[in-house]
Amino acid sequence: DGFAEFGLIPPLLATLEQVGHKRPSAIQSQAIPPLLAGRDVLVASQTGSGKTAAFVLPMLQKLNEGEAAPGPRALILEPTRELAAQTAAVCRQLGRRLSLKTRVICGGTPRDQQLRTIRDGVDIIVATHGRLLDLVMQGELVLEYLTYLVLDEADRLLDEDFSESMTALTPYFPDVPPQTVFCSATLPEPVMALAKRVTRDPVRVDV
Ligand code: AMP
Repeated sequence: DGFAEFGLIPPLLATLEQVGHKRPSAIQSQAIPPLLAGRDVLVASQTGSGKTAAFVLPMLQKLNEGEAAPGPRALILEPTRELAAQTAAVCRQLGRRLSLKTRVICGGTPRDQQLRTIRDGVDIIVATHGRLLDLVMQGELVLEYLTYLVLDEADRLLDEDFSESMTALTPYFPDVPPQTVFCSATLPEPVMALAKRVTRDPVRVDV
């Protein structure tokens, strides 16, 4: 009934205790085990449910187990800059005992400045799709090492021509598709259609 039962590694358990997350939320109990087992997961849930930690904890554990790569191994797509910053903060907070680098890529800051932040290597990119697509198409960011992909607040992502960006981005993904987490507060038909495109046989988690 605690985080330890999921098989999370000691540095993550110590951090959870330190930040005061005593027990997993309902969404975390349902999502973390299949994610640690390598499954894709479709999360239907509101913010406030603890969904961010639900996809960040397995991501951190898997990246920590794996080898560093010449490009990011995890990509988290967010609908807004504010959400990108907040999610990056959670990655850094929960990952504080691991040596993984998180960087935010989004519009509104100078392109060159952002390029400098990823030059020395990065494990996790939290991004909005416009600037990300720009850097990827210009060959300045490679996505061929991705093993973990998150579409957060996908119903809001769709509002902004996100579907077209996904079509443009997927050719840059590795041949072995990344493990994918799809989060959305609501699942109307166009959102489900996107979920079906990007996930493979997902475990569905509803809270
Ligand atoms: P989220 O739904 O991801 O936006 O998270 C909502 C809030 O719940 C955030 O402030 C988290 O820090 C907090 N939180 C996430 N998981 C837990 C947990 N297991 N126990 C207590 N608080 C949590």
